[in-house]
Amino acid sequence: MPRQAFRGLMCSAVAVAFAAAVAAQAPVTYDLVIRGGRVLDGADNPWVVADVAVRQDGIAAIGPGLTGRGQREIDARGLVVSPGFIDTHTHARRGIFEVPTADNYVRQGVTTILEGPDGGSPVPLKPFLDKIAALGVSPNWGMFVGQGSVREAVIGRVDRKATPDEIAKMKDLVREGMLDGAFGLSTGLFYVPGIFTPTEEVIALAAVAGEMGGMHVSHMRNEASGVIDSVKETIAVGERGRMPTQITHHKIIGTPNWGSSVETLKLVAEARARGVDVTIDQYPYTASSTSINALLPPWALEGRQADVAARLRDAAQRARIKQAIVGSLMYDRGGGDPKNVQIAACGWEPSLAGKNLADITRARGAEPTLDHAAETVMWIVEQGGASGIFHAIDEADLERILRDPVTMIASDGEVPVFGRASPHPRSYGTFVRVLGRYVRERRAISLAEAVRKMTSFPAQRVGLLDRGVLRPGMKADIAIWDAATIADKATFEQPHQYAVGVHSVIVNGQIVYENGAMTPARPGRVLHGPAHRPAR
Ligand SMILES: [Zn+2]
Repeated sequence: MPRQAFRGLMCSAVAVAFAAAVAAQAPVTYDLVIRGGRVLDGADNPWVVADVAVRQDGIAAIGPGLTGRGQREIDARGLVVSPGFIDTHTHARRGIFEVPTADNYVRQGVTTILEGPDGGSPVPLKPFLDKIAALGVSPNWGMFVGQGSVREAVIGRVDRKATPDEIAKMKDLVREGMLDGAFGLSTGLFYVPGIFTPTEEVIALAAVAGEMGGMHVSHMRNEASGVIDSVKETIAVGERGRMPTQITHHKIIGTPNWGSSVETLKLVAEARARGVDVTIDQYPYTASSTSINALLPPWALEGRQADVAARLRDAAQRARIKQAIVGSLMYDRGGGDPKNVQIAACGWEPSLAGKNLADITRARGAEPTLDHAAETVMWIVEQGGASGIFHAIDEADLERILRDPVTMIASDGEVPVFGRASPHPRSYGTFVRVLGRYVRERRAISLAEAVRKMTSFPAQRVGLLDRGVLRPGMKADIAIWDAATIADKATFEQPHQYAVGVHSVIVNGQIVYENGAMTPARPGRVLHGPAHRPAR
């Protein structure tokens, strides 16, 4: 340690001890004081040793040696005190009604989660948000309105262009979603029915959210061989729709496409240089997770489950579908080997969770060739489908995307019921994995930069200007954690393992996690976007 820094630490330690002595005599003036932690403000500044005082739901004061006692005091010496983490891409409505405390998120230090990603949200939003408010949840909760859900409500799950009348109806639903408090429009152009939406229609709808102050965030049409064109499309939505646009869970899928992040990041940088407000979010894993249907060609997925099953019964169509699945297994999401596709959850046969396509193919009495694995996929789809985990992402792309200054962290996770099924570990580990693996172990980015990507950056991005930074006057969403031990424990084999190294978590001034356990408090609020009309 350089001498100057060592002296700085000594002075701080003396100051803390002195302040504690003074504070013990002082009257109670705060609800909570967090003493002597390394305060990382969320804005990429190096930590400073300071006390953080909370009154009601806000931060009342920050400084070294604050006088005035707290009703509660937390000794944070040696620990990091940062803003709570903000997750702009979650599927948390899967599970929140069973686990309103959202333990998997809170135990990582997450204090705000946004829902309605990938083009999928309740339509309308208001009744759903009322249910969340009535339920009472631990983290704060916000929504996007989903383009796919809007299209499905107006046109259905069919592959055709919208009529002008239908476009007007869809715009009305987007407007209604924004008035109900959405932060913008999400698209899932990879999924039915987003996949049937021409770019022009996406722009027309996104622009409605943009005019109302919202952003566009997209699960892109293609994250494999078509990833470059998809990045261009996402940029075009922002550029031509005149609104902020975001590539969500940016990744490069499929071995032949690895390395394409050099080009995608260049496209983003060039767009920003000409004034397009484009950003990225990412989760730190080399596997993705979605429906097993992702291995089928889009045309085979039009309509409902019964339509898909009918195509699989038709010999000619079945042969075409099988050929496409073999291609996906080889060059796309399958990662070149059936063992790279693992079942996450399966409603009709829960015991398949955790098994991979090679295992299941063998159990059905066949060698796990690509051909036989494709038959297994079709069988699973015919039985009712399943969600899968797909190991087909390269670490070099992951780190390159992570290091980009316009990339923020978001989990794409859900709220698992502890022990049930075999979900992607991102639900339990995204934020702490960045801090443990990518900051401490691999030194891919600095600690302060990682925290910025989880706090002030997502807050600023969606317009939550009273959160994401530690400053007097901001809401008291705070995470206290040990930079030396913070880590993810959840693995693909054993996902149901909570994060470690997080000391306590505070939402709106109330402690929701401490001493290794959730508290009964559920102080999370429904947060509203820029066009919210409360009196609707
Ligand atoms: Zn997605």
